Amino acid sequence: MAGKPKFIFVTGGVLSSLGKGLASAAIGALLESRGLTITLLKLDPYINVDPGTMNPFQHGEVYVTDDGTETDLDLGHYERFVNVRLGADHNFTTGKIYDSVIQKERRGDYLGGTVQVIPHITDEIKQNILQTAQGVDVVIVEIGGTIGDIESLPFLEAIRQFRFDVGEENVLYVLLTFVPYIPTAGEVKTKPTQHSVKELRSIGIQPDIILCRTDRFLSKEIKAKIALFCNVSHDAVITAKDVDCIYEVPLVYNQEKLDDKILEYLNIWTGSPRLEMWHHLMKQINNLKHQVRIAVVGKYTDLTESYKSLNEALFHAGVYNDAKVELHFIDSSTLTKENVAEALLGADGILVPGGFGARGVEGKILAIQYARENKVPYFGICLGMQLAVVEFARNVAGFKTAHSSEFDENTEFPVIYLMREWFDEKTQSVQKRDVNSDKGATMRLGAYPCHLPLKESYAYKAYQAEKISERHRHRYEFNNEFMKALEEKGFVFSGLSPKGDLVEIIELKDHPWFLGCQFHPEFKSRPMTSHPLFREFIKASLENRVQKDS
Ligand code: GLN
Repeated sequence: MAGKPKFIFVTGGVLSSLGKGLASAAIGALLESRGLTITLLKLDPYINVDPGTMNPFQHGEVYVTDDGTETDLDLGHYERFVNVRLGADHNFTTGKIYDSVIQKERRGDYLGGTVQVIPHITDEIKQNILQTAQGVDVVIVEIGGTIGDIESLPFLEAIRQFRFDVGEENVLYVLLTFVPYIPTAGEVKTKPTQHSVKELRSIGIQPDIILCRTDRFLSKEIKAKIALFCNVSHDAVITAKDVDCIYEVPLVYNQEKLDDKILEYLNIWTGSPRLEMWHHLMKQINNLKHQVRIAVVGKYTDLTESYKSLNEALFHAGVYNDAKVELHFIDSSTLTKENVAEALLGADGILVPGGFGARGVEGKILAIQYARENKVPYFGICLGMQLAVVEFARNVAGFKTAHSSEFDENTEFPVIYLMREWFDEKTQSVQKRDVNSDKGATMRLGAYPCHLPLKESYAYKAYQAEKISERHRHRYEFNNEFMKALEEKGFVFSGLSPKGDLVEIIELKDHPWFLGCQFHPEFKSRPMTSHPLFREFIKASLENRVQKDS
């Protein structure tokens, strides 16, 4: 489809956590299945400039894109559902918008004018949306927060104006609301939806399509009632029924003819959707033959949102291996020498994910030791790789007090440390930093190339390639001074930066599968193309289970 780009704005009413991110991603998937090129962006009303410094407990995972932007976890949904590569231009917050407007004001760009929310902030928002539209047919824009929040007002005002700027026929407003079933009344209630629409209309936006999140398919009568009270056509009221598996969402929307309606409103002509891959995926998911139990030893055990991409990557790898992955979250701060074996007894595979902060570090090291000694498949991601180095250095290579200088600044054996100087592939220049460097600014972030020189390594066997690229988010690195000593004891360095100065993957000899990587492979796993390392880890864990059973 050539011609002017179209814009779909997805807002949410009634309450948060209805799944606007997933809804936007699923709409993207449906449009892509019709041959359209699309992109997605998320506008977040909070004041942090980006979510990089936000606590995962509060905000869920920080998702990292190829270009090294620390973004909202919804961008993870987008990339998993749609063939798009997103980056800095695809997630902006109130903080980022104000930051840019204030910088312009300081530079004198506004020529002495009074800088105001309307038009300066709203113009900045609109411009940020417009700049992502180049070369795509449809831009899907998700507005964070809930209708009625004070913070989201400038964003809503901007998207209201947007329709006038680019033409009515090029803009569509989708509202996701909640239609609860009240057991004592024996019926679903539409009033919250009516109120959200009223609220949205008071800002000047009339939704075109209402997506009703609910636990059952809505009857014709209910849809007619919502249509009447909310001023939309009957077939623009769509049931967004709860599903067991998020990858079913595009199919449920398609069944409700949401894609037809969107195309009709935006006046786009395409062929019918090619949803075979999604149907095939769901068939696989619904018929998984095996089961495998993975212990995730980490810090954020209460909220699955904190490890969103990790959970998804494990799930994808399970589907690939025809296995349901049962996740067992273990709070590493509860692990002791005495209880570690009992805690991990039922685990077919053990994984230590990325993390920051000292809490629970010794517990993670105990879990790694258990995996190494008992030959349980182990996968260490970022911090999980660093601690595998610490464990091996201490317990095998004889550096009894080894540690990462993140947790013990004065350790005699800093096997993981802040590298002072290294060659940065991104900027093609030598980078320097010291302990006093500003927190946010010193991380190695985003995609970096990695070489896999050893054909016999688990890494090479998984990727089947000599050169790979993966996303990073960390400050500390392996200290090359210890390379030889660890190698002599059976440690394998199977992934290195192109110049060889940064260790990216480590493994163990004489172990069924023990691998740690300095990057975060979970960000690149997709439901239909599971990530090679996760795939191999789950495969080894399944083999371990079979062996235990026999
Ligand atoms: N805290 C470690 C570092 O900064 C690991 C970070 C991570 O696991 N993402 O290097």
